[in-house]
Amino acid sequence: MLIAGLDAHICDKCVAQANQILAEELSVRKTKSTGSSLTLMKPLEIKKHLDQYVIGQDEAKKVLSVAVYNHYKRLNQKVEKDEIEIEKSNIIMVAETGTGKTLLAKTIAKILHVPFCICDATVLTEAGYVGEDVESILTRLLQAADYDVASAERGIVYIDEVDKIARKSDNPSITRDVSGEGVQQALLKILEGTIVNVPPQGGRKHPDQKMIAVNTNNILFICGGAFDGIDRKIANRLKTQTVGYRINDDDANIDLKNLYKYITPQDLRSFGLIPELIGRLPVVTHLNPLDRDALISILTEPKNSLVKQYQKLFEYEDIKLDFDKEVLEFIVDKAMEFKLGARGLRSICEAIMIDAMFEVPSQKGKNKELFITLSYALEKFAKSDIKKLKVA
Ligand code: ADP
Repeated sequence: MLIAGLDAHICDKCVAQANQILAEELSVRKTKSTGSSLTLMKPLEIKKHLDQYVIGQDEAKKVLSVAVYNHYKRLNQKVEKDEIEIEKSNIIMVAETGTGKTLLAKTIAKILHVPFCICDATVLTEAGYVGEDVESILTRLLQAADYDVASAERGIVYIDEVDKIARKSDNPSITRDVSGEGVQQALLKILEGTIVNVPPQGGRKHPDQKMIAVNTNNILFICGGAFDGIDRKIANRLKTQTVGYRINDDDANIDLKNLYKYITPQDLRSFGLIPELIGRLPVVTHLNPLDRDALISILTEPKNSLVKQYQKLFEYEDIKLDFDKEVLEFIVDKAMEFKLGARGLRSICEAIMIDAMFEVPSQKGKNKELFITLSYALEKFAKSDIKKLKVA
């Protein structure tokens, strides 16, 4: 049989043969992309990579590197032969805002050979209510994997702001808690591992779209949240244990400035996460609040630190930019005053640098160096609106 084209004809045998070639080629590409045997990066190497971008937070880095490494091991495991099946251990990270949770997740994503997505728990609601269904998380992952279902099923998902889906009150109320407990209930199945029908375009705007079945058995979930106020709950718990006779001296050495490091699943429960959800997030880790030294390091040390970014910006104008050490200390002190964590650094730097960035590009006879002194910084800072920020 001949199939007619515009200028030529093709016979049935050639069509069959071409089809075979296509099928072979596609299957080769697929194994390449999903990496039937993934190269394992050792936990130490993963941590070293994280060290380049994230300052401090050694404990969280360790936990994350091990989790990712084990995730790869599980993916490479051939269950038929090995009797012991390794189960995934989803992670929950608890830390104040601006200490690097999202940064850790993003940095890890860069070195992964599996699809990775970051999504936000605040937009989720129980099915049937205004907001996004929990399945939309998997839509993101599918998009990250270019709609390759097999590869998405080996991916990693970072869910930010999980504290926002905490139960709103302890009393079971007559109204449904559709963005809190309802979402937690819906997440249970996904975290545990099940086959979920995912709308490929997300949302309910396209009711006639075909669903894609995704098995979440091998997807690793990492959750992060600020859990504002959980330190009081931790303090309460620690205190109740120290009432009465002191059994051991450990109780006397409680670090009151960083209560997050004593976090246990019990505290998450009293914050409003349901026990079933906590059970599915077996690894609980914390990030430390950033102190003055850490903030100074964040300004200068990471591969894309703020100082390096400004230097790069000025380099395009052939200008060598430098900061007086006192300026950096001033920026950090202000950031600590505003209690914005590392996030505050950026806006303070911006307030100081905006005039220079505005004027320098159109200056004639440029001088090739710009040195930011403390008096210059103080003057620009005093002029800016940011100083009107209320000290928290
Ligand atoms: P959150 O913990 O609220 O998710 P982010 O990870 O988004 O905070 O941090 C906000 C910004 O602060 C980051 O983009 C990064 O520039 C900076 N930052 C925070 N913590 C660190 C850290 N430990 N090392 C380097 N930069 C950090």
